[in-house]
Amino acid sequence: MKFYLILFLSLTSLVVLAQSPNIIDYTAKVHWGFRPLPDRKVDVVVIHSTYSLGKNPFDVAGVLEQFRQYGVSSHYLIDRDGEIYRLVPEDDEAFHAGKSVLPETGRKNLNATSIGIELMNTPTIAPDQRQYTALVELIKSIKQRYPIHYIVGHSDIAPKRKSDPWDFNWKKFWQMMSA
Ligand SMILES: [Zn+2]
Repeated sequence: MKFYLILFLSLTSLVVLAQSPNIIDYTAKVHWGFRPLPDRKVDVVVIHSTYSLGKNPFDVAGVLEQFRQYGVSSHYLIDRDGEIYRLVPEDDEAFHAGKSVLPETGRKNLNATSIGIELMNTPTIAPDQRQYTALVELIKSIKQRYPIHYIVGHSDIAPKRKSDPWDFNWKKFWQMMSA
């Protein structure tokens, strides 16, 4: 009986592990761009694009330095290899959306109710396949923790100010999400 219980628990944790993407925790490094917001209700995921203005547009440290200078951050950053960095705990409000409105409902200040994910790509270099894979894995795991009703791009919620995520293939994204 004990053996079967242990076997069952091991199999269960294996399944959970298989579903959770590998995440590199950078929350100890990022001490700007967020604030605690107890009991916040998350039901939105916002997808962004970002890159470093330095020599290498895909330098994680360069992007973080820019975020620090502007006092902004997202919860997650996905680099070109599809590595996922956690910058801000999901419980906290991260400053990634700015002035924003959810078109479906007219709700404002979406930082309070969203999780922000940055893809490293530029207006002329589309996201890598590995980034799509990581993004979909990450959002599927977020959906296990929060009742996500809206997955939007930054340009959907701030159309006059923002055009990211750049060169993002929404059709491919939704196909991967439903697979
Ligand atoms: Zn953005």
